[in-house]
Amino acid sequence: MDNHSSLTIKGIGAAPGIAIGKAYLLERGRIPVPRYRLLGDEAVADECRRFEEAVAKAESDLEAIKKSIRSEFREHARLLEVQQMIMRDPSIYDESLRYIQKERSNAELAVIKSLRKARDLFSGLNDENARSRIADVNAAGDRVIRILAGQSHASMEEIRERVIIIAHDLSPADAIQLQVGRTLGVVTEIGGSTSHTSIVARSLNIPAVVAAENAAHLISMGDILIVDGGTGTIIVSPSESDLSFYYERQEELEAYVKQITRHAHLPAETRDGHRVGAEANIEVLEEIVAAKDNGAEAIGLYRTEFFFMNRLAFPDEEALYRDYRDLSELMAPCPVTIRTLDLGAEKLTSWFPRLEETNPALGLRSIRLCLHYKELFKNQLRAILRASAIAGNIRLMLPLVSGIGEIFQTKLILKEVQTELSRKRIPFDQNMPFGVMIELPSAVAVADLLAPEVDFFSIGTNDLIQYTIGIDRSNEHVAYLYEPLHPGVLRFIKQAVDAGHEAGIPVALCGEMAGEPMYVPILLGLKIDSFSMNPLSLPRVKNLIRRSSMKECCRFAGKVLRMRTAQEVNRSLRKMVMRKFPEEFRVFEPNYDRNAAVPARHSLETQE
Ligand code: PEP
Ligand code: MG
Repeated sequence: MDNHSSLTIKGIGAAPGIAIGKAYLLERGRIPVPRYRLLGDEAVADECRRFEEAVAKAESDLEAIKKSIRSEFREHARLLEVQQMIMRDPSIYDESLRYIQKERSNAELAVIKSLRKARDLFSGLNDENARSRIADVNAAGDRVIRILAGQSHASMEEIRERVIIIAHDLSPADAIQLQVGRTLGVVTEIGGSTSHTSIVARSLNIPAVVAAENAAHLISMGDILIVDGGTGTIIVSPSESDLSFYYERQEELEAYVKQITRHAHLPAETRDGHRVGAEANIEVLEEIVAAKDNGAEAIGLYRTEFFFMNRLAFPDEEALYRDYRDLSELMAPCPVTIRTLDLGAEKLTSWFPRLEETNPALGLRSIRLCLHYKELFKNQLRAILRASAIAGNIRLMLPLVSGIGEIFQTKLILKEVQTELSRKRIPFDQNMPFGVMIELPSAVAVADLLAPEVDFFSIGTNDLIQYTIGIDRSNEHVAYLYEPLHPGVLRFIKQAVDAGHEAGIPVALCGEMAGEPMYVPILLGLKIDSFSMNPLSLPRVKNLIRRSSMKECCRFAGKVLRMRTAQEVNRSLRKMVMRKFPEEFRVFEPNYDRNAAVPARHSLETQE
């Protein structure tokens, strides 16, 4: 008998695949800081030296990190330079020394006091840019304090081997820096399957589990782990038999994905000849290669805000123009859908002032933020319009539209920009398609009014589910309520599709639901015209579309729309998919219990 002791932690599977390797804990918590008064002049002199050495060490650490940063994240290197400058700024450096010498504070405390003073100074200024420097001041101080307190500063850039990252949380900006070559898997204690961290992990093809309660406490640096990003299972210190089971599954999975990827370039057409679009969602241009390799016929969603994150200042029009021009050229003649800035809520930048909002998800975000900061919006629109002249394949899309007013307001601003460009004889595509995302219940309710005003709809189920059911999509405590198959959600999708078709416009779906093979029969049956998803899901979804019958799917959707609960729909759907596409279960969920309606909530169990 194997008397090995392992621990199983359950979370939510956020990006499929199996990772087997060593744990690397990212420190994100508060550091316990010693506070004491120095006795005697010698102690003061020693403490000044200790402080100076800590700053020098922080500087050399930053220098080493800068050298290892991938070229596409050059902006991040500039953020690190700002940290270096802040530490040498007299308001931090000289002031800390003064606290040590005059108030006889220990170095950690002296740094904390000088940071507090600098923060107060910045937040009192009337300059938004200066106020946004507070995050950099904190990061710089945190680094020096950790060195003084003898804690290594475990950060992503310092990873030197292939590891599984364990963190309490990763911001979308953190996630975009994951080193693909070095990150085998990701585990976070909080988050949901459609939080942007999960979306980024999926697009980087890194197996991920989120909402793994207490993972950062239960797992130690260097522990051997198995992370199953499909089922949300983490096994700490696995037994030999666990290891051989998962190694085998890993191989089987890779072989299956390889096999279906060979057919990824065939059209997404059902057995009975119904053709739909198969498009890709991307966050950075580097993903275009994966999109093409996996059979994307268009970019259905370019999340432009990621270009704005991780940089020191607002990108100027030229930088934006070059980005959109490259996107257009790389995909031409295929269409590319550029979604205007969807900043706010969890997607923040260091250059943009963090607003004091109690409910950021209900706050000044997305299209509202752009309409509020008109110059920021015009800057982006100008860059998009200029790029639209190159290959004529750009489509413009607005996020989080709540009603027709935002469409009219945007059209007025767009007209202003077009007039300015025409006056300067700068060309742009006069017929650039203009569409909106359907992500709010109010947009669904007035979809019949919106449809005649636009050229296409794209349903963003990630937000639509969040706002329909009234739960935060990144909140692990209510993740069990995040039900894509909720009858309310399915009815809303149908209502939006019907309104679009009534007005003769196509309706795409670009939320994470589109990339979930299990939902193919329902979404086909609800008559979605294009499926837009993270590039790596395309082969699986296309494979199922090609093997489906539209007639059967429509019949099935009709039946499902009469069901009363998500569980009922889920059971029926799984039964159908298991019957029609058994290999999907065999490969991705070998332990699937056909009687379980929905995955169990996170539980903790110890195996002996
Ligand atoms: C959505 O809400 O479904 C969507 C695609 O947009 P995002 O995930 O970027 O909010
Ligand atoms: Mg959204």
